[in-house]
Amino acid sequence: MALIILGVTKCALCGKTLQEGEKVTSLPPIGDLQNSLYKYFDAGMHTQCFDNWDKKEEVSGIIKIEKQKFIDSDYFKEMIAKFGKPKWLDEMQ
Ligand SMILES: [Zn+2]
Repeated sequence: MALIILGVTKCALCGKTLQEGEKVTSLPPIGDLQNSLYKYFDAGMHTQCFDNWDKKEEVSGIIKIEKQKFIDSDYFKEMIAKFGKPKWLDEMQ
């Protein structure tokens, strides 16, 4: 999860400081360091900036692929074997 300090952290898209009372969102971290949009992940941004961003669709696709990679991982299979299937997995599929 991105660390956001209102009044300090800058929006990854417009570069302005995220202020209290503003709608703020963040993207989850991704493992693909070579991705051209990597710097926008695990970072905070204005919800409005994100909604108006022309890469929004692309980013949503990347998040989906990253989630799938995680679900397909041996680690995830091991966790399901130990603790059962998480609720969010059903909601996602
Ligand atoms: Zn912004």
